[in-house]
Amino acid sequence: MELPRVTYSNIGTDFTAVHDRLDRELAAFRQRLLGRDWPGEGEAYEFASPIDRRIAIGTFRAARAEEVGAAVERARRAFDDWRGLSWQERVKRLRAAADRLEARKWELAAASLYEVGKSRIEAMGEAEEAVDLIRYYCDEMEAMDGYARPMRRAFEREETRDVLLPLGVFGVIAPFNFPLALSVNMTAAALLAGNTVVYKPSPQCALTGTLLVETLGLGEAVQLVCGGADTGAALVAHPGIAGIAFTGSYDVGMGIWRRLASGAHAKPVVVEMGGKNPTYITAKADLDVAAQGLARSAFGLQGQKCSACSVAYVEESVADALLDKLVQFSKGLAVGHPQERQTYMGPVIDERAAARFEKAAAEARRDGRIVLGGERLKGGLFDEGAYVAPTVVAGLSPAHRLNKEELFLPFLSVQTFRDLGEAIKRGNDVVYGLTAGIYTRDEKELQFFLDRAEAGVLYANRASGATTGAWPGIQSFCGWKGSGVTNKGGLGPYYLPQFMREQSRTIFR
Ligand code: NAD
Repeated sequence: MELPRVTYSNIGTDFTAVHDRLDRELAAFRQRLLGRDWPGEGEAYEFASPIDRRIAIGTFRAARAEEVGAAVERARRAFDDWRGLSWQERVKRLRAAADRLEARKWELAAASLYEVGKSRIEAMGEAEEAVDLIRYYCDEMEAMDGYARPMRRAFEREETRDVLLPLGVFGVIAPFNFPLALSVNMTAAALLAGNTVVYKPSPQCALTGTLLVETLGLGEAVQLVCGGADTGAALVAHPGIAGIAFTGSYDVGMGIWRRLASGAHAKPVVVEMGGKNPTYITAKADLDVAAQGLARSAFGLQGQKCSACSVAYVEESVADALLDKLVQFSKGLAVGHPQERQTYMGPVIDERAAARFEKAAAEARRDGRIVLGGERLKGGLFDEGAYVAPTVVAGLSPAHRLNKEELFLPFLSVQTFRDLGEAIKRGNDVVYGLTAGIYTRDEKELQFFLDRAEAGVLYANRASGATTGAWPGIQSFCGWKGSGVTNKGGLGPYYLPQFMREQSRTIFR
């Protein structure tokens, strides 16, 4: 029987059969793949699941500068063969890799469930997204005819073609929160463009990263290096790297961008960073839909999405009613073990995130009002990981740090407004510009928002997520301002060319 595919927005679908299959898959995964010692070179490190410190994920090796250098060298040698293939052949190989990924999606989802603490539905959605990402970029490559096209003629006997070509070895550095989709996003684009890749997953996602490379099965064209900041820095600094694709935090991303601008010549740096994503709820909104969309967007994956909604601007006349509905709906979102079907929120990733949460909650208590949550959860499983309550705060001053900085936590600040234009100005007044949402049934308000919001991904009136839920080929995912550096996003039609350089070829015949 064909099971329904989990995406981030099909919230009304009956996933009972998916859960039944996952029960079996998770049990098999625990037995077969957790707690192993994975081969590799570098310094051994172990880590435990954020769900429960007693679950050992495995032992991995953090690559040092010399191992990074060896991986770059292997990728450089592989580049000669890989770029020699026709683009049609590369598409064929990537399509086959997508099929392998699809066949193993349950296992890959299980890995990210245990490593990141994703709910079942978030983990399955991500595995499906990774498959669609590859297929979408293959479709784009075909639609653009391999990015080679004839140009105009100056003379009858002069023929010119314009081609986009690969650059060499791309370093791909991924964050922890979408270890499959974002790793696949950057890696598949680099490969389809004809580059080879040295891929470094987040140190918290070495298992998912290892299984992913194994599943892609693209041989020497993808070199895996595990490790954290030092390994990443060694990759960025390596002279054999032709470009870097990075997704992660603002400070690290901007550091990489600056570093690569300081060499003898510029190298492409495709950097995607954080967000501080606002949602506007006007008096013309359906408040039930708005409350659901806000809660799902702010608390899904424990608020650890670059697109998570973190500030809600509500028109004063409906603020109390909206807050009531938001609190009511959020109370129904279960926090617990992601292995359980009903769990909506698992733990945050680590103790550092929990400390960030406690600091933010203390500030909100001091400078505003906690409407819901605000505490770290205790007792039973909660003592074995960093579990925090979904939190809603109100009454903070507009310029408060909690309204400006990315927290990356299940933490939503509610602000009120009288004038939508003023609210949008406040929402725009942050360093980031990734996603934004609105709830209104008024076409003029909607158009006003679409014209004024400074963000690359806009949503209106969605119950599945106020500012979250992008899908390959449907919503491109472009970070404006401090959320990205190239003004072109992943998941969309302008991503692939960023991994290539242009050449014009004029031939006199
Ligand atoms: P992070 O910046 O801490 O780490 C990201 C990656 O960079 C990791 O692999 C890490 O090991 C590596 N790294 C760390 N220091 C480095 C250095 N000095 N040089 C090279 N590499 C280095 O981010 P994270 O905590 O893993 O992920 C969360 C962040 O990612 C959030 O800010 C989130 O908004 C952002 N994010 C953005 C998008 C997007 O598409 N815009 C998507 C997902 C996550």
